[in-house]
Amino acid sequence: MVKIPFACSDCHLVLEDGVDMCSRCPTAHVSTDHQGYVIIMSPNRSEIAKRLKIDRPGKYALKVSNR
Ligand SMILES: [Zn+2]
Repeated sequence: MVKIPFACSDCHLVLEDGVDMCSRCPTAHVSTDHQGYVIIMSPNRSEIAKRLKIDRPGKYALKVSNR
């Protein structure tokens, strides 16, 4: 069985196993319904990071369902 991690619908951060709340946006909705991953190493040099408004390195989901 493959466990799907939660991703934050606000900042798109993919959360650690067993974590169901984003440390950056605790009030944001988290969802297991997300698509695609991107690893951001240098947010200020990445077009995707700009588009997703990512300002910290990490693993992010490209699309997160808001429901
Ligand atoms: Zn977040």
